[in-house]
This record gives sequence, C-alpha cells and structure tokens, in this order.
Amino acid sequence: MEQQEHDAQTDLSPRTKVVALGRPQRAPGASLNPPVTFTSTYIQDGAVNYARVDNPTWTPFEEAVGELEGGRALLFASGMAAVHAALSLVPTGGTVVAPAAAYNGVVVSLTEAQAEGRVAVRWVDVTDSDAVIAALPGADLLWLESPSNPLLELADIPGLTAAAHEAGALVAVDNTFATPLLQRPLEDGVDVVVHSATKYLAGHSDVILGLTVTADTDGGRELHTRLARRRTLAGAIAGPMEAWLALRGLRTLSLRLERACANAADLAERLGTHPRIARVRYPGWGAIVSVDVAGDGDGAAAAEALTAGTRIWSASTSLGGVESQLERRRRQPGEPEAVPVNLVRLSVGVEDVDDLWADLRQALDAIG
Ligand SMILES: *Cc1c(COP(=O)(O)O)cnc(C)c1O
Repeated sequence: MEQQEHDAQTDLSPRTKVVALGRPQRAPGASLNPPVTFTSTYIQDGAVNYARVDNPTWTPFEEAVGELEGGRALLFASGMAAVHAALSLVPTGGTVVAPAAAYNGVVVSLTEAQAEGRVAVRWVDVTDSDAVIAALPGADLLWLESPSNPLLELADIPGLTAAAHEAGALVAVDNTFATPLLQRPLEDGVDVVVHSATKYLAGHSDVILGLTVTADTDGGRELHTRLARRRTLAGAIAGPMEAWLALRGLRTLSLRLERACANAADLAERLGTHPRIARVRYPGWGAIVSVDVAGDGDGAAAAEALTAGTRIWSASTSLGGVESQLERRRRQPGEPEAVPVNLVRLSVGVEDVDDLWADLRQALDAIG
C-alpha cells in the first residue's frame, strides 16, 4: 500500500505532518520543539490540577498521532495499557469477538478474563469474514488486528466494521503493524484504534508507550472521555521523557517506514528462494515478514538456529525499530497455538538490504 499523498482536510501529506505537527506556536524566540514538563501537580484553579490526569508533554504527541489517524488520541504507559483501556469498554459479562491469533498479550488477557467469568470470548479466524459475521450477534466488541502479529493475516476492516455496527458491537483495531501512514481504520468507521507506540511510532526501541485514538464524532468523543477516565483511574500514564522521545521518533516515521517497507519487500522475495524457508508470510506491504523454517522434525530447532546465527539482526522480542530484529515467536509463553513452532518473525529495519540479506543467508546456510 502506498503512503497517502495528501489529506483533503489540511492538504498536507502525512510525510509533512509527521514533521510539522505538535510544534509550539511560532513566535520570535519560541523554541522549535516542545519542552518536557516534569511535574506531579499544578497550582490550583487551572484547567488540570494533577499530573495523573494530564501533562503538557503528552499533548503534542497526542495531537500529532490524532491528526495522522483522523481522530483524537490518548497516550498510555504502554500498548497493553491502551489495550486494557479499550477492553474496559466491554461491560462485565459482555461478549468479545476476537482473533484466535492476535498479539499474545491480547489473547492472554482475554483468555484470563474469560476464565474469571468477566467476559465471554468468541475466537475467530479473521481472514474468514463469514465466520466473523456469524459470531457477531449479541457481541459488545469486535477486536481486530490487521496485519496480525505474527501471522500477518489481513481482515476486511470496512466490511467487518459495518457488520459489527449492524449487530450493535463496537469495533477496535490494533493498528500497530500498519501505522496511520499505511492504514487509517477510523475512516472505515472503526470506533477505537489502538497502538503500541513502542513500535513504529516511536521507532527506536527505547521507550514503551501506547495510544488509543477515537473519532471526532459525538460517539467518538464519548468514547474518548471514557478512555481518558480509565487512564486517570488506572494510572497507566506515560512519563514525560518517554512522551518527548516518542514525538522525536515520530518525526522520521515516513522515512523509516519507506526504507523498512522497501527492504521487507525485497527480503520477502529473496527468502522465498532459500531451501531452508518452507513458507514466507508477507501481505505485500508493511515491514514485517514472517517465515516458517524447514528443518528436522517440526523445524523449531532450525528456527532457533536461524535466530542464533545472525550478526546484524538481533534476536530480541519486539519490532518496529530502526534496527532489524528476529524472533521465534513460540518462545513466548502464551503465544497462540495457531502460530507454528518454526515461525520466525522478522522486523525489517532500515539498514542496507544487501547486508541484511547476506546476514540471513549465512545464518540459513549454517543451519545443520
Ligand atoms: C507490542 C504490541 C502490543 C503491546 O504493546 P506494548 O507497548 O508492548 O505494551 C500490542 N499489539 C501489538 C500488535 C504489538 O505488536
């Protein structure tokens, strides 16, 4: 998918917006970048009186991401804090329709909530729209992730959102893998977009942060208020330094993503030619590629050997940073069983693609 060229509303390209948004007002002597405000409280009788409720350092990053997604953003202490705020929109005893193979933190959270009798979960294959639609009657929330982590499955976001609304369910989309430069779910009528800003938005593997984004409609504003209240009461707030670093990281999102996506397309093709690769999972866009590694038995040992054998790629969990990373996902406790044991997720970074390929190839060639 191409980065969108411009936005009708402000007529600025997202490539410009990532650089220009969230700046202080221009005035002689004003700083180009927003300051970092370290405070726990404020002198009384202002708009905000305590820093668990708001911090001016969050605002520029929230404004920038909100504008990029086409809604209003709230910053959270982590992607999972944002996920939990979104899940809190489901009433006790309510029903969630969720992907059987989503980010494992989401799958584990919903599995435990179900075991404790707090919600009912209907697990679905999100690539099978008919099955998802059949699971919707009586549901309170449809949870989607597209492309999904780590199978890179795609869901029909507009079609499923329309069906969920007809059934009276809210729709949340985890947009971490796509970023607003490649996909804007609010434009498809989605109610809540969730991000792990830890990944592409901040982009340098140095902070943990998350966001929710809701539409600028009456319904969207009501959800924003409920999510903000959840953030304040649960206390899942970002540190000012992390928020500032995330905004700095966002400045290069377009550049980073352009290079990483081009590298990923190139590597997906080259990986497909190697005899050790049984399957390449790549939706044709984005910067994540997953591979099933061929080897003795179930291939898990061969997959481990690949991750142990690289010098430039780092064997580490997480994704979306400038540096290329790879991981055999089933190492993680709670990873859904739908994920093959020999699957290695590659988060393609911005290094030289020939160096990245040479490193993967020597590691693949060396598998015993
Ligand atoms: C990493 C991730 C999360 C969780 O985000 P944290 O910032 O680690 O809490 C949620 N969804 C997806 C798709 C992720 O990759």
